[in-house]
Amino acid sequence: MRIGIGHDTHRLAEGRPLILGGVRVEHERGLVGHSDADVVLHAVTDALLGAAGLGDIGDAFPDTDPAYRDADSRLFLRDTLARLNRAGWRVVNVDVTVFAQRPKLGPVKGRIRANLAELLGLPADAVNVKAKTGESVGHIGRGEAIGCQAAALIERASE
Ligand SMILES: [Zn+2]
Repeated sequence: MRIGIGHDTHRLAEGRPLILGGVRVEHERGLVGHSDADVVLHAVTDALLGAAGLGDIGDAFPDTDPAYRDADSRLFLRDTLARLNRAGWRVVNVDVTVFAQRPKLGPVKGRIRANLAELLGLPADAVNVKAKTGESVGHIGRGEAIGCQAAALIERASE
């Protein structure tokens, strides 16, 4: 078995959709990035790459590559899962914490969890999504950014 961690932060701005874990969340602002800036999928992708010893999301999908401009981040996760499978790994479980002052994520945590489980091909109880605020301090607490931490456990497909 191997464990990996991932962390990501993106800035919030008006005129952008807010997409978390592949789920469109109603909010007056969204995250800014080269791709769709889905912090949850980026942190999960990094956790999986880390567990398999495959570097990071920036190596795998460079933000200087115009192919990834405004890219749907589900592509990064699917491609990473395929790489893990080719290397003989399968995902055991994933645990995620999203840090957002607003919007309140309580009502959408379940949808994000279900969507992540579907994307990862895992049962719902092998994926967990927790939501925290920024305690009204720092860039997250001031509502300038949303952050995400993820941990992933993988094992040999033959185990
Ligand atoms: Zn990112």
